[in-house]
Amino acid sequence: MTMAPKTNLVGLTKDGIESFFVGLGAKPFHGRNVLKWIHKHGVVDFDAMTDVPKALRETLQQTAVVELPRIVLAQPASDGTTKWVVELADGQHIETVHIPDSGRDTVCVSSQVGCALNCSFCSTAQQGFNRNLDVAEIIGQVWLATRHLGHAPSNVVMMGMGEPLANFDNVVPAMELMQEDLAYMISKARVTISTSGVVPALLRLADVSDVSLAVSLHAPDNALRDELVPINRKYPLEELIPACKHYVARDARRKITWEYVMLDGVNDSIAHAKSLIRLLQGVPSKVNLIPFNPFPGTDYRTSPPERVEAFRQRLRRSGIISTTRKTRGDDIAAACGQLVGKVNDRSRRKLRQIPVVAEVGR
Ligand code: SAH
Repeated sequence: MTMAPKTNLVGLTKDGIESFFVGLGAKPFHGRNVLKWIHKHGVVDFDAMTDVPKALRETLQQTAVVELPRIVLAQPASDGTTKWVVELADGQHIETVHIPDSGRDTVCVSSQVGCALNCSFCSTAQQGFNRNLDVAEIIGQVWLATRHLGHAPSNVVMMGMGEPLANFDNVVPAMELMQEDLAYMISKARVTISTSGVVPALLRLADVSDVSLAVSLHAPDNALRDELVPINRKYPLEELIPACKHYVARDARRKITWEYVMLDGVNDSIAHAKSLIRLLQGVPSKVNLIPFNPFPGTDYRTSPPERVEAFRQRLRRSGIISTTRKTRGDDIAAACGQLVGKVNDRSRRKLRQIPVVAEVGR
């Protein structure tokens, strides 16, 4: 007889762990207690969970595990940012970044091993895509950060490796656990999902979640955005903008944070600023200008600071709140788009890019 695989309790939300315990013939509150042990207290050993009856602990040993990813390398940057290289059970690696800032601790969490979207200026795109992270691997990054910091982070941004909305079914429960009172208790305003604009998933998200929304815009028109963020060819601006408006419409105080990477001579002129202003007319917006972080092999260059500032001032004069993101962790390649783990690329993108002649005779 083969045994059913053990359930990893780390990936269960409150509802999920309650039903798992009911399935074992136990009371839901025991499930809630175990959830608290794992996430609030960092306890992974069933025998140390003192309010769980002994017989139930024995059942748990047979049916469940508490399996977490582990940090294999902590790389501190000179500005206080730390990049953690995190190893998953199958031996693959992802990256999680801790960014301390005036008393706040932001943790930047990955959602996939690599990324399939191929944005032209992003170094994660260069490594291809392997797989989605499961709920335990996503919330496991917050678990690890919490143990390291000695407290839950004040903010979580889903801005690490991967496109979170391409991994909807795992990202949504993980974000629920971030907000859960029995776990990390981070308010919805301080959990941010960042997306390149997977419109159908964004529309679905509006029905099930109310975390903060950041959107990687990077261009004010379809022609340029098609080039920089290729998923725009599938979901162009005339679909993306209404979907974003729909997402924030439930709360009048909510704004969309538009991420806009400043690429020298590509998207950073006053003319671009003007078309951005037109595009965002009537949309509750904040614009976050991100100085481009170069990486080996890229042809893009960072816009000069004066150009970034002129762009920002132009937006402000039209009443659009706009900030320039401080680049953090750049000496350890932990800055935006630089989270390159070693990915075993299964998308064969590298192969597809080789000219056809080179493939002859393979
Ligand atoms: N896939 C999601 C999550 C990644 S978030 C998304 O696209 O939103 C990381 C942010 O950093 C995104 O806005 C991304 O476009 C931006 N980014 C990627 N590469 C960058 C680079 N080299 N320099 C600056 N920002 C970059």
